[in-house]
Formats: sequence, C-alpha cells, structure tokens
Amino acid sequence: MEDILKDKVKTGNVYLDFNIQGRKFFEDKPLSCPICGHEKMGAVELLGVKHGPFFWECDECESRFLRYPPAKTDKLLKEAEELHYDLEELDNIHLGLPN
Ligand SMILES: [Zn+2]
Repeated sequence: MEDILKDKVKTGNVYLDFNIQGRKFFEDKPLSCPICGHEKMGAVELLGVKHGPFFWECDECESRFLRYPPAKTDKLLKEAEELHYDLEELDNIHLGLPN
C-alpha cells in the first residue's frame, strides 16, 4: 500500500500527480504496458480505497493506468481523501489531549 494522497493535494490534479496516462481504463490488468509494451504490470492500492487495486502500474516505465472509469475514480478518490482527513483530525485530537 502506498500513501500517495498527500501528493495529490499539492496540485489537485489526480491524473497529473499520479502519472496517469490518459482517461482510458482497464478493468482487468493489461497484459502488457500500453506505453512501452513491457509485460509485467503491477497493481497499486490506495490507502482508504477498499475496492482492491486502484491503478495498474508498469514495472518498466512506471506509467499508471486507471482501473475504473474517470467518474468512479474521482468518486473513490474523494471518499479516500475524506477518510484521510478524518484520520488526520483524529491524530490531532490525540495530540491535543492531556496525558
Ligand atoms: Zn511501460
């Protein structure tokens, strides 16, 4: 699992920040990389997203591809982000409590 939400927050452009290639999505893991043709693709899970792999990532050129249609991707990211902020807030509350 990789916590890449923090990077997203920087520019607010998930596709740019996550190095997503285009808006094409692959429900099943592509057999080879659509960019470089490399035959080993990895799955990237995202903290807070409970739907299994979220992106496919090429082992060679590190291009990432959507698993879900853009609209669903946005929705899942938003949910994950909210969860992320909730967790941060919880941490802050912990810090503020006297021991
Ligand atoms: Zn590639």
